[in-house]
Amino acid sequence: MSLEQWQVSDTLLHGEFGVYPSKGIRYALSLTRTGLHIQRLVPKPEDDQRTVLPLLDMVGCHTLRNRSSTDSFAYFSIYSYPLKKKKVTMGSSRTRQRLVRTFRVDEASEYEKNQAVAEKWATAIKCLVHGLPIGSEPEFVPGLLPRARRLMLLLNPFGGRGNALQQCHAHILPMITEADISYNLIQTERHNHARELVQGINLAEWDGIVVISGDGLLYEVINGLMERPDWEDAIKMPVGIIPCGSGNALAGSINYNAGFEQAMGSELLLNCILLLCRGTVVPMDLVSVTSCSGIRSFSFLSVAWGFISDVDIESEKYRHMGSARFTVGTMVRVASLRTYRGRLSYLPVLDAHRPISRSITLAPNGSLVPFHRAQLHRTISDIGLCEERNVMYKRSSASLDTNELPSFETSPSPSSPTALHSSSFTFDSVTDDPLQHNHVLPNDMEPQTHHQVNGPKDDLLAPMEHPVPKTWVTVEEDFVLVLAIYQSHLGADLLTAPFSFFDDGLIHLFFVKAGISRAALVRLFLAMEKGTHFETQCPYLIHVPVRAFRLEPLTRKGIITVDGERVEYGPIQAQIHNGLSNLITGSHRVRMTNF
Ligand code: ADP
Ligand code: MG
Repeated sequence: MSLEQWQVSDTLLHGEFGVYPSKGIRYALSLTRTGLHIQRLVPKPEDDQRTVLPLLDMVGCHTLRNRSSTDSFAYFSIYSYPLKKKKVTMGSSRTRQRLVRTFRVDEASEYEKNQAVAEKWATAIKCLVHGLPIGSEPEFVPGLLPRARRLMLLLNPFGGRGNALQQCHAHILPMITEADISYNLIQTERHNHARELVQGINLAEWDGIVVISGDGLLYEVINGLMERPDWEDAIKMPVGIIPCGSGNALAGSINYNAGFEQAMGSELLLNCILLLCRGTVVPMDLVSVTSCSGIRSFSFLSVAWGFISDVDIESEKYRHMGSARFTVGTMVRVASLRTYRGRLSYLPVLDAHRPISRSITLAPNGSLVPFHRAQLHRTISDIGLCEERNVMYKRSSASLDTNELPSFETSPSPSSPTALHSSSFTFDSVTDDPLQHNHVLPNDMEPQTHHQVNGPKDDLLAPMEHPVPKTWVTVEEDFVLVLAIYQSHLGADLLTAPFSFFDDGLIHLFFVKAGISRAALVRLFLAMEKGTHFETQCPYLIHVPVRAFRLEPLTRKGIITVDGERVEYGPIQAQIHNGLSNLITGSHRVRMTNF
């Protein structure tokens, strides 16, 4: 490829710069809509060295000035996290590694002129990272950029293996600082703390609420927002997730949506932080779930009964293993496979092969809201990150000074009394299978907290005491499992509904009927890691896209989970609400799967 071709036709900026630390080497840079092309300028063409930093790997760019000297140079540093293959004992694994490239602008004799060039490059890179619309001959002036996003970060110190705070210091805060995100980090102190907290916040102060945990904490946030009197506005607050739990299904779905390879552990973590830094927001369906005692909650992931909910809850005792707890739990449960009799009714969607899709970009939020920081009304723990943040900042700028330091402050807050709610329900019939009796689960769930019920009307559902509408289909079976899922992933490594989109308006209802062998069940779950379980042609596995369903357990004891959280056991019904919430995905739909 000739140099002319290489300085690609869609070049937005081009320039020649030195580097920091200075080694007398100079580079020609060409910025395009997809990456930064770096060419080392050398006397001999055969020594030509070119690299490309893809925009997809970048989180931000800062301008800097040398603190000690009186020179006229200005600098800009580009922060990126390229994926690297690393050799491990059994093969290879991928990981993202921080890469900072600092360039020196030295053409002019006055600092101000060099600084203006550095600022232009930083602005251009940030515009591209955030996917802002750029015209054919753009003028990259700092005014193009919206103000820094403000995120509320809610961290569950007990999520997953309990290392969320460590990950926060090691990766999350440094990366979002490089992306100019302003944040307030709050550690949750107990179950439902996040739920209470989001009920008291001033929505205008935040551009998003991000949980640093598993799916359970996001369930709290969504329900806390829906419990507010202004739920219609509150639920539009973009929500996000950084996977630090043992159940990281939504993070798996976000990763998949972005077109990244399926990932776990630190690769998934860094992919999700990278996407959070980009900030694209898309609508996400929520499912309104009503239990037999009339408690209504909003779910973004799944309702499960039987094998999956048993594994989820019974494997709590292996929590120290992280997500491996589900593998162990699955083996234990396969060894003593149970079946559950129940009645499952649903409203099928006949044209489900044409998913509805809308995408919007909300963040960074360009609209300027008056910035008053009210105190949060509840007691929260503040982990004193002011100090940490400065230290990190110094780390990234080495001996250079930064021209801008994002603001940071802490917030305090109180807890509110909650009313306890007890519940009961009656069975239509009970299957007293001796096998099931031998393995009955303790129904030791905590009494559910009674929260205010808000939200859109469930226009597809009949009252629980009435029969389901005539257009519905009902099956009565012995089930191994029933799963309603509305994300692609059930766990970071379980691609359960590959055709699902965040706002397809569909509940993907799966059930596995009794009669399946243990080996076939294991095969199904193994195939699910790659999303090929449909190809096993297992006659016991049924999948129906639906808009609403009712599940009536006819087996006395069991576990039902909503988004992996245990709920009261008994009849339960649910319906989808298309695009009710907003999710920070960092990308529009990349994959082209057609169902
Ligand atoms: P995991 O995927 O590891 O289960 P989750 O985010 O789902 O992680 O959280 C598990 C549970 O922990 C949720 O029910 C959540 O409400 C609860 N929780 C959140 N913060 C705390 C805390 N500080 N102490 C105890 N439990 C908490
Ligand atoms: Mg969906």
